[in-house]
Amino acid sequence: MSFDIYGNNLRKGYCEVHPNVHEEYPCSLCYAERQNKRERHSSQEPTESDFKEEELRQQLTDKDNLIKELVTMLKNCQDRLADGKISGPSFFAKLDALISKAIKQP
Ligand SMILES: [Zn+2]
Repeated sequence: MSFDIYGNNLRKGYCEVHPNVHEEYPCSLCYAERQNKRERHSSQEPTESDFKEEELRQQLTDKDNLIKELVTMLKNCQDRLADGKISGPSFFAKLDALISKAIKQP
């Protein structure tokens, strides 16, 4: 005695996944569902444009972070200028590097 996937008695010649279909497993409905799943799966695979979009998003995030960093530095600079505490060329070198990096961003 065999059973369908729901645990009911399986009639001979019927599909075990689709007990109402009078076809042996895998029936035509099984094939249709499998085909459906494959199509849905393949459409979920990332396309080239998805990759480009991801790359672009990353670039925007990088640029955003760069701008935030610059603004923070400028605020720092302002505070330190106000306090007369700006010292050494390293601060300006870092600022220069950040600015040229920001300009080079697409
Ligand atoms: Zn079936």
